[in-house]
Amino acid sequence: MSRRKILSYILLCLSLGLAVKLYYDSTRQPELPMPQASPEVEEIAIEPFPKGYSLGTFDERFGISKDRFLQIVDQAKRIWENAAGKELFHYRKDGLMSVNLVFDWRQEALLKAKEQRARLDENGSSFDMLKSDYERKSTSVGREQSTYEESGQAYNTHLNEYNSRVTRWNNGENHTEAEAQFLENRKKELDQEAAVLEQKRVSLKTTIDELNALGERISALAKKYNLEVEKFNGTYVNQREFEKGVYNGRSIDIYEFDKEEDLKVALVHEFGHALGLEHVDNPRSIMYRKLAAQDINDIHLTSEDLTELLSKQK
Ligand SMILES: [Zn+2]
Repeated sequence: MSRRKILSYILLCLSLGLAVKLYYDSTRQPELPMPQASPEVEEIAIEPFPKGYSLGTFDERFGISKDRFLQIVDQAKRIWENAAGKELFHYRKDGLMSVNLVFDWRQEALLKAKEQRARLDENGSSFDMLKSDYERKSTSVGREQSTYEESGQAYNTHLNEYNSRVTRWNNGENHTEAEAQFLENRKKELDQEAAVLEQKRVSLKTTIDELNALGERISALAKKYNLEVEKFNGTYVNQREFEKGVYNGRSIDIYEFDKEEDLKVALVHEFGHALGLEHVDNPRSIMYRKLAAQDINDIHLTSEDLTELLSKQK
């Protein structure tokens, strides 16, 4: 067989194979979907109060223990119970309504932001340390400089006195053995004074150079630090508005919290939805649509929250 013949034979076999497969596929019965269990939502909807709730999804990355989480859930539901004067939710291992701690991009973003904040604070405090170091050094340099100038003036006075005595000597005045001795000794003393002064000058110059270098480092850091603060404010602080939690008719899902107080207020809000409550207009209210002016350190219901609760209890 020629090469060309072999090739067309192979192609024929391949297309026959494909045709057979297509035929086989078209004759197979389509798979029927399995009948599905009726959704749980209806079961929950008819469950009377107190509603049973259980712990569902739980993620360690939130940095809270299961026991502590359940404690806070308990405190949160009690806020409604105290107002209603009766038990509304009851913890049970098989409670139909699950309370979930769902870790996703929201908490991840918050943790990242916290880390960044800590780094900024660290930079800020090392920056402050450098600045106070600079101020201390610059005060001491100032003192050193004025001591140097005073010593310089004293030296000049001494030198002028000496020079005028030398001039007198050169003019032939006071040519005594004592004066000769005095001038000789004075010359040595003045050379000594000049040497000390020169040492001071060199050391002062070094200190001033160091101080200037420190000053440059500080201003470079300040520039960088301010930029980082801007970046932080731009990327995190301005993007904080998303839902921290949700009640979807069968479970309470919490997505994000910083402190336990944050978590508690989010839970109280979602328990409110689980009671059938809608949002109210007062930013101080638990049932306001987002975390705004609520006092998270002293979580309490406002009159708007209570009115909403009463309207649902009738
Ligand atoms: Zn809500």
